This record gives sequence, C-alpha cells and structure tokens, in this order.
Amino acid sequence: MSANTIRKAKKLVESGGVVKIEDDLFQIKSSSNPNQSYFVTSNTCECLGFKNFYKFHHGKGLKANCSHLEALKIFKQEN
Ligand SMILES: [Zn+2]
Repeated sequence: MSANTIRKAKKLVESGGVVKIEDDLFQIKSSSNPNQSYFVTSNTCECLGFKNFYKFHHGKGLKANCSHLEALKIFKQEN
C-alpha cells in the first residue's frame, strides 16, 4: 500500500466522498474525477485500478487494493 493511496483515501473520507448505500455497499467518489464515483463493497471495487491490479500483480499472492477500498476502511473505523 503506497503512502499516496492512503493520502488519497483519507482525503476522500474527509471530503465526504464516501456514501453508504446499504450494509455492505458504498458509493465512493473518484479522487481524480469528482463527477465519477464507484460502487464499493468491503472487498471489491469497480474502478480500473482494482481491476488492473490482478493483471499487474498476477501470481504474487497479493490482495487487490485501491484508494476507494482504503477509503472505505478508514470510513468504517470512523463511523
Ligand atoms: Zn477503487
């Protein structure tokens, strides 16, 4: 997890970019484009970074992550 991802995630939470839809469904704004948002659950995100993760890190046994999933984690800790 890069420091940059965490910084972006914190900013999303602080700016109210995380909205709870259902128990495990959240809508989280894109940090690069405020007009865009993604549906995120506790372990999936529909953004490109998440989808590409497995392509780039295939077979390394890592779990995909992105600033939205990280923002959700911070959001849950605070709420
Ligand atoms: Zn994402």
